[in-house]
Amino acid sequence: MALREWPAYKRIPIDVLSASGSELLLSDGRRVLDLYGGHCVNTLGAGDPSLGEVLAQQWKQWSFATNLLDHAPRRDFLAAFEALMPAGEWSVFVTNSGAEANENALKAALAITGRSKVLCFGGAFHGRTAGAARVSDTKRAAYPASPFEAVRVAWNDIAGAQAAIDASVGAVILEPIQSLAGVQEPAPGFLAALRASCERAGALLIFDEVQTGNGRLGTFWASQHFGVMPDLFTTAKGAAGGYPIGLTVARSAIAAATPEGLMGTTFGGGPLALAAAAHVARRIAAPGFLERVRAAGAEFKRSCVRGPIASVRGEGLLLGLVLQTGLKAAAVRDALLAQNVLVGTCDDPAVLRLSPALELPADAPARLARALDAITEAAAPSIRSTLAPSAARP
Ligand code: PLP
Repeated sequence: MALREWPAYKRIPIDVLSASGSELLLSDGRRVLDLYGGHCVNTLGAGDPSLGEVLAQQWKQWSFATNLLDHAPRRDFLAAFEALMPAGEWSVFVTNSGAEANENALKAALAITGRSKVLCFGGAFHGRTAGAARVSDTKRAAYPASPFEAVRVAWNDIAGAQAAIDASVGAVILEPIQSLAGVQEPAPGFLAALRASCERAGALLIFDEVQTGNGRLGTFWASQHFGVMPDLFTTAKGAAGGYPIGLTVARSAIAAATPEGLMGTTFGGGPLALAAAAHVARRIAAPGFLERVRAAGAEFKRSCVRGPIASVRGEGLLLGLVLQTGLKAAAVRDALLAQNVLVGTCDDPAVLRLSPALELPADAPARLARALDAITEAAAPSIRSTLAPSAARP
């Protein structure tokens, strides 16, 4: 008899004993600066004491409740999030993950428009359930049949999208910044053009803010950063600071028109997740928090174009480090890890991703810069051989 884990992941070969804030403590005694943050999940950093208190307190008070019952964390969560919503009337449905949140947004949009086609984008990632996978552009999306028709347009192809969004399209779904694709930002005018095309065709615009939401870009939502409002949006990952949650948010008129029974969940919207999300939302809304996110992002951009890094793109603390030509992200990631800094990779083998805790140690950009310098000087041959001598700055 033997039980193994399904080999779904190619794991990074470190053994983490514990974590605090943005520091991982490894079993060999090393301390590693975590600039990956569990892909945007650890909003407040690992083991945040006040979030721990909230969860412990809520567990004692009422650990689980069916969605048929009302409770104080539900009201408190609505109050905390209401303060952070874009202008207008919104309604929220709470589930457990990003894929589930997107599945509900797509289902609601198609039910309301009575249409069966969704427009999505090259490079997109929206999750691994049937609908979310169908609108994702990766090998991970494999299903033998699709629950709806999907049309894929190249990212930032304004003319292609305008032509494709016609009266047969029920929903257009996109990440305002494509993360897994390599932190691909929208071209100027792209989001506004999609908004206008959806208006014209009667299609609903869905923003997947699973990564870009919850303060990540230095505004609470990406829609506020870009000044373009969707009809529905979703989030998950960092919304409850590490406690599983998914949110599907729609204009209240859309939510009110959704057929009864279309959406439901056992665990979603339980008191623990809601108490955690309310706490995280209030922390992000505290004076100075989002300014610090913007400042930290600007500091990474300023200080990390050195050694193997040719340029930095993205907003706030969702950043893509574009490597010098010829370098491989996995090799640079491993070399940085040997210098005790953890960064992420993505679908683009020439890009590293930073998605750290939003509460970061002030010296995090300097520590990454030092590690970049160290790998440039000491460098693994795979890195050194591709670096032009002038590219490495002391
Ligand atoms: N949407 C985006 C933009 C994501 O990055 C992810 C996960 O990485 C998902 C959706 C799916 O979220 P989950 O893994 O919680 O289902």
